[in-house]
Parts: sequence; structure tokens; C-alpha cells
Amino acid sequence: MSIYDQYEAVVGLEVHIQLSTKSKAFCGDAAAFGGDQNTHISAISLGLPGTLPRLNKSQVEYAVRLGLALNSKINQRNFFDRKNYFYTDLPKGYQITQDNEPICLGGNFDIEMKNGSRNIRIHRIHHIHMEEDAGKSIHDQHPKYSQIDLNRAGVPLLEVVTEPDFRSAEEVDNFMTQMRQLVRYLGISDGNMEQGSMRCDCNISVRKKGATTYGQRCEVKNMNSMRFARKAIEFEFKRQIDLIESGGKVLQQTLNFDAATGTTSPLRDKEDAHDYRYFPEPDLPPVVLADDYIDAIKTAMPPLPAQLKKQFQKELGLNEYDTNLLTEDKSVALFFLDFVKEYSNYKSAANLVINKILPFLNEKNIALSQFPIGIKNLSAFLKLIDDGQVSSSIAYQRLFPELLEKPNSVPLELAQSLNLIQSSDIGFLEDLVQKTIENNPDKVKAYQNGKKGLIGFFMGEVMKQSKGKAEPKATNALLRKYLES
Ligand code: ADP
Ligand code: MG
Repeated sequence: MSIYDQYEAVVGLEVHIQLSTKSKAFCGDAAAFGGDQNTHISAISLGLPGTLPRLNKSQVEYAVRLGLALNSKINQRNFFDRKNYFYTDLPKGYQITQDNEPICLGGNFDIEMKNGSRNIRIHRIHHIHMEEDAGKSIHDQHPKYSQIDLNRAGVPLLEVVTEPDFRSAEEVDNFMTQMRQLVRYLGISDGNMEQGSMRCDCNISVRKKGATTYGQRCEVKNMNSMRFARKAIEFEFKRQIDLIESGGKVLQQTLNFDAATGTTSPLRDKEDAHDYRYFPEPDLPPVVLADDYIDAIKTAMPPLPAQLKKQFQKELGLNEYDTNLLTEDKSVALFFLDFVKEYSNYKSAANLVINKILPFLNEKNIALSQFPIGIKNLSAFLKLIDDGQVSSSIAYQRLFPELLEKPNSVPLELAQSLNLIQSSDIGFLEDLVQKTIENNPDKVKAYQNGKKGLIGFFMGEVMKQSKGKAEPKATNALLRKYLES
């Protein structure tokens, strides 16, 4: 047993979620990602003297929405504070954030683990607070100078702070993936980690398995890739154990993760650090939220992934695998709900979406809203199979591609024009059955001597010759009649 097996990792997260509001947290500048450098700015973003912040309604509403989704208590009288520090991308010299009275308190997020089946881990939320983002320093564009882009300065953020409930890098990955899904369902953020719309600080410590107190933690800042977060946690886990086992002590530090080497290095020690001198923001009044206001947000909550998963399994009888695929993306889940209002063979509908529609969207790199075939025609297409008018293999292989080309044609007429309608016409079938029997005298003898399994072979032959158009039930009955007479 390796020494590492005697320890467990303990991780707590501070997740930053950039909100998809139109304007910034405290002024009307655009909050959109990108744009030419320093174009989404005004006197307020620049922190010029004499300017005053004004609260963004949407930021508050989004915070409440997330809080409700995470079972938090909404703090109906919450405050902003100033967190003072100097950095070139923070022109005001302070960040407006919430320290003592954040907007949401407590809560939990129950995570389904991908690998273990039905393994649910509960992660407690400590609180959620509102704040603003800083600008961006750019160090690699000029040989001599660093550059500052203040487009991002003042963009509204929510920070979700968890309890130290994570025990592995995999759990962190799952949590972040499902948090991204949640914020997208809630419509409060695009959840794009690559663009920094979601990033997290990972607080990591280790302790002997079975221990009841926590070890000293280090904080790895600003992870916006789950692959790197996993690496950072795994690296820290070993580094801290090695340190402890060789008689050293883990120091509370802020660390930087170097993606190139997969290692962490200290940015600063906490001891000498941080007196941010938080104090109540004098330019913004307390945020007071009435019961009615919260109730209205509750009533307007969109359906959430966990809810839809349950519905798909309980009411539609779909399995977990299909359910997960159908709810991964909100637009797909809602589309599927509309689809099964029109067409009630749920499993067939699920198969069509999973095996045909999603791969098509992927291949063409388009959104579901651009998928050419509407729900009415998709239903009519599946009904052709259900009614035995077109065999399912022919329908999928030949009719569906045609329908994609001519999405507004009537599926039945399209199938007719392509000569794909199955036939249970006795004359047509008898012909094929007789021919098949004549051509395979040995197999007929074997069948008659008791090898009844050969019926499959005969079915296959008739199907082949009919080019898939022989209606299976009638064919089967006819074959048996001829073989057994
Ligand atoms: P600070 O305000 O100094 O960043 P907090 O006590 O608010 O510190 O904790 C911030 C984060 O650190 C939380 O996500 C929390 O879960 C996590 N955390 C606290 N103690 C530990 C620990 N011993 N090991 C791992 N994570 C921890
Ligand atoms: Mg912190």
C-alpha cells in the first residue's frame, strides 16, 4: 500500500460565475465578452472620481435564481462592501463585493457521479455573494510593456463558496460540469469556461483517512479548465503528503498552477497577506428583497436538469442513460418534451433524437433551432415505422436522409415516391417466398428436419430480395406456411 493511500484530499471551491446581463454590475457599459480593447468602458468602469455606482437589477435577480436552485436561504437584507487592494486592472482601488451579508446563505448541490451508477454526493454551499470582475492585464503582446483591457472591469459576478466537502479531483470536475449545466438552464450565464465565464479557486488540504479535523489548506487560483483543475488537485495532494511525511508543515499559501509543467508554485503566503480593509460600500444602499419579489422569481423558475431527469424516468419510463443525454442541453430537453406531446412512443422518440438528431447537429455544428425537420414530420416519420409501412432499417437508412433534404414534404408521400413502402400484398410476398424456397432446397430440408432456427435465414433472404419492403409479420406467416406444408 502506498503512503498516498493513507490520506484523503479535502477540497473547497470558490466558483466565479460571470453573469450574462446586458450591462455591467454598477453602470450601463456593455457586459458582453470580447470587443475591441477598452471600448466597453465609461467614467464609472474607469473609477473616475465623482462617479457613483448604480445597482443592476438583473444581477440581483440572477443571484436569487441561483440561490433558489441551490436551496439557499435568500438574505432579504444584504449589503455591499468594499474590498480594498491595489492592482493595475482595478482602477478604483477597490472591488465592490459582499462580505458580511451576502445575498444567499447556505444551501446544497447534489451531484450525480458520472462513474458510479446512482451515486449522489451532496455538497454544501456556504454562501453566494455578488461582486464585480476586474479588468485584464495582458503581458505577452508587447516586448516592453504590459497592457490593460478594462472591458471586463465591472462585469457582474456571482461567487459560490462551498464547504470543504470534496474528496477527489473527479468530484470537483463533476460539480463544475453540473454547475455549468445549471447556470445555463437558469439562463444566468453562458457558463463558458474557456472564455473565463466560469472559473474556480480550489482550496486543497490533505488529512489521514479517518481524521476528523482538517489539515492546513492551500488555494490554487483561477482554474478555468477542469483538466487543469484535476491536475492541480492531484499534484497538490501528493506535494502536501510528501511534505508532511518528510516532517514538514503545509503553509497556508495562495498558489499558481503552471499548465506547462503541471505543478503549482507559491504566489504569496497568507500570513503576510491580506488586509483588505473591508468596509460597507457607502455609495450603495442595502439590497432589500420583499417576499413578493422572491415568490415571483420562484414562480418563474425554468425547469432544472434534476427535475427533468426525474420526469423523463418516472413519467416517460426512459432509462438513465437516455435521460442524461436528453437533458444535457436545455434546448434539447425542452424540444423532447414538445416532441412527446405529439408522439407517444417515448422510447422511439428518444432513439431518434439521440441517434439521429444530436449527431446531425454535432456534425453540422448547428443549434437545435436550426434542425430542418419539425416535430410534426418527425412524428409522422416514426408512425410510418410503427404502422409497419416502412421497415425501421429502411426508414432510418433511406427515408430519413431524404427527409432531411426535403424537410417539409409529407413522409408518407416521400416514402411512396421512393418506393419504400413495405408490402404485405400476398401476391408480391408469395412470389418471393416461393423463389427463396426453390433456391435453398438443403436449408428447407434442414428446417423440416427440425432446425427451426433457419426461419431467420429465410426471412433474411426474402427481405434482401424485396429490398426491405416485405412486411415482416405477413412474410413470416407465409414462410411458415410454405415450409411446413
Ligand atoms: P478565505 O476567506 O480566507 O478565502 P474561507 O474560510 O472563507 O477562507 O474558505 C474559503 C474556501 O476554503 C471555502 O471554499 C472552504 O470550503 C475552503 N476551505 C476551508 N478550509 C479548508 C480546508 N482545511 N481544506 C480545504 N478547503 C478548505
Ligand atoms: Mg478565498
